[in-house]
Amino acid sequence: MNNKVVMKGKRSRGLYFLEAKTVIGNAEISTKDDSDLWHRRLGHVGEKSLQELQKQGALKNSTAIKISTCDDCILGKSQYLPYGKSNYSASKPLEYIHADLWGPSRTDNMGGERWFLSIIDDYSRKL
Ligand SMILES: [Zn+2]
Repeated sequence: MNNKVVMKGKRSRGLYFLEAKTVIGNAEISTKDDSDLWHRRLGHVGEKSLQELQKQGALKNSTAIKISTCDDCILGKSQYLPYGKSNYSASKPLEYIHADLWGPSRTDNMGGERWFLSIIDDYSRKL
């Protein structure tokens, strides 16, 4: 980008409301290396597929297709590791609890808070 303001918005209660006015409204067609742009435009398509599209003349791209590291693709393919089975189980209420602190959320809740703490009693499984 060239550090020009293209849109403005006012923040109100944690949300940005755009002012309905476009400052710049021109389209740009380029023949330089747009491999990453085409990768994103076509739903994060792979390099070989883009090369095939280029071979067929579907892309206005004169240079060799070379996609750089894409954070979205890496995150999309990552997985959470499973939790191992616990060997411990509680024999009475509040003997063993599970707690999860989460936040900050993008918007405040009705009480104006952005952090959440959930506690689950292992014995009763109640929140
Ligand atoms: Zn991608």
